[in-house]
Amino acid sequence: MNSTLPHHSTHFSSRTHDLHPSPIREILSVVNRPGMISFAGGLPAVDSFPQFSLDAMPQYILQYGPSEGEWELRQRIAEELHERGFQCTAEQVLILSGSQQGIDLVAKLFIDPGTVVAVESPTYLAALQVFSYFGARFVAYDAEALDVQALLREKPSFAYAIPTFQNPSGRCLDASQRNALADACDTARLPLFEDDPYCDLVYDQCERTPVCALLQQAPWIYQGSFSKSLAPGLRLGYLVASPDLLPFLTRLKQAADLHSNRVSQWLVLQQLNDSEYSKRLEELAENYRQRRNSFEGALCRHFGDIASWQTPPGGLFFWITLNRCIDTRLLLPKAIEAGVAFMPGEPFLPMQVTSCGQLRLNFSHASEEQADSGLRKLAALVYSFT
Ligand code: PMP
Repeated sequence: MNSTLPHHSTHFSSRTHDLHPSPIREILSVVNRPGMISFAGGLPAVDSFPQFSLDAMPQYILQYGPSEGEWELRQRIAEELHERGFQCTAEQVLILSGSQQGIDLVAKLFIDPGTVVAVESPTYLAALQVFSYFGARFVAYDAEALDVQALLREKPSFAYAIPTFQNPSGRCLDASQRNALADACDTARLPLFEDDPYCDLVYDQCERTPVCALLQQAPWIYQGSFSKSLAPGLRLGYLVASPDLLPFLTRLKQAADLHSNRVSQWLVLQQLNDSEYSKRLEELAENYRQRRNSFEGALCRHFGDIASWQTPPGGLFFWITLNRCIDTRLLLPKAIEAGVAFMPGEPFLPMQVTSCGQLRLNFSHASEEQADSGLRKLAALVYSFT
């Protein structure tokens, strides 16, 4: 048993013994120090948040509400998904308290100790953390060059995928890669859990049709979030699921928190109904496109000779591979001491291998000047790292 657990932990569930602090939450706790430049979290730019007003909110919103979520909001989400070529009904939409909740509900639905889950490598660290907490074993697959045999060999219970602007790699699957993943899931009737919080943050043309929309046979869960398009403090997301899975996810949601915050749901609906909403999304993407471009300019200046990366066509992150195989976890305390925070690569790797010079850098939060100065400091640390 973990020696840091209190003595009454003998009463804790066995799951709890594998409960580690989230690396990102730990790092985020230091980023608010004065003068700290943070490339660590996936924090949207504060100046991008819309103005919200509660003035017209009806009183009934403060009452308990339906577990599935507000009907009008579910309808609006289904309409948005139709426009993206995804045929689903409002009845299939379940409002979540942040899309992180969807990860928790899906884990509860599928995972027993030892259950195999197919994940990309790297992938979203907080999904790995939740799946591990329920006892998952991982099999890694490469969504860009799918080896179907390898995907299915260990008989996973479901596949987790972030096809659009992946966290942390930033990459976006093209149409044939999306079809290949859908075909593999259909052939094996492998449930697909598609996580899509970044689809509105698009800077370069790329295919964004949900892979779940391409499925013919396999059960599926698709989820989205209002954290990046509106504001993360609202804690609002949604999932859409095939009819064979939805009732179970709804019951799990009921058991978890009865329903999501109705005030947030009402605020989000006002935004989605605003005639300026799509213009706002375009402006948001333009703002982030500029930040990405200037961040990449600074990366080229300071990391051009010591690292490689792909330009992310959307989302919030650069995934960097240093030319030297440094364990970037060891670089982090030195960086924090120098006033710069980043995410080491290792927590994003499902197979618990040591990352070889990989790190994730968020470009949406720091100003242009901060990005330049932070990257200069970080590059100097890499040069001097022994
Ligand atoms: N999935 C992915 C891939 C994410 O990157 C995040 C947060 N950054 C989430 C889910 C959770 O987002 P939220 O709960 O804010 O909707």
